[in-house]
Amino acid sequence: MPHPSTTVAGVEITPLCDAIGPMGPALRLPFLETFLGAPADEGLWTLHFHCYLLRGRDGKLTLVDTGIGAADSPAAVWAPVPGRLLAELSAAGAAPEDVDTVVITHLHSDHCGGSVNGGTPVFPNARHVVQRAEVEAVSDTIRAAVLDPLGDGLHVVDGDTQLSPGQWVRLTPGHTAGHQIVETEGVTVFGDILHHPVQLADPSIRYVYDDDSDLAAETRLEQVARVRAEHRLLATSHFPDPFVQL
Ligand SMILES: [Zn+2]
Ligand SMILES: [Zn+2]
Repeated sequence: MPHPSTTVAGVEITPLCDAIGPMGPALRLPFLETFLGAPADEGLWTLHFHCYLLRGRDGKLTLVDTGIGAADSPAAVWAPVPGRLLAELSAAGAAPEDVDTVVITHLHSDHCGGSVNGGTPVFPNARHVVQRAEVEAVSDTIRAAVLDPLGDGLHVVDGDTQLSPGQWVRLTPGHTAGHQIVETEGVTVFGDILHHPVQLADPSIRYVYDDDSDLAAETRLEQVARVRAEHRLLATSHFPDPFVQL
């Protein structure tokens, strides 16, 4: 457990560090071609891959994202597999069967790859919350590897949706068509709204792998402004330090 948990408004939030490694050869570009408009070349980009466990006041467990998954995950072409999610979950005192809700921020392989292993859902008792726009735009690879095996465990929502008292998902398109973030009182789990701290310093800096660059930039500017105005704790997917207090 490289990163400590924190508690905000009675909800315990634990970063689960699924992997740490450089962007793999299949997607690697020079830093300045990855982050368009970045002020300086930072060289090889080493990412963390964070999922989050939220333990609510009612004791219910929500897992946000499932990481890169097993050695045969679709993420293997570019990310360091296998992920350590289940070891991290165990270290946080939870078993896969205990998870009530899985929120998949979006269907990129490093955010949903750990949902299924060997064709079987890893979190058998959980509803898996995904936006309808994301399901409709999914690649054939991810549909076959993740969505189809989830079967009845897939819970499709349309837009901003309350999941439980005090817990919401919000549709934040741009990085992907149906990208969503998770909000609890005082905390936002940000998915891939941001990829690197340079984008928090200047949210106008674009990420080359955003599906819709203009919409992603609009969403990023709007959401960063919102977390700043509300002084929320930001839980990031790929920063070296998971939490940023704004
Ligand atoms: Zn980490
Ligand atoms: Zn992504």
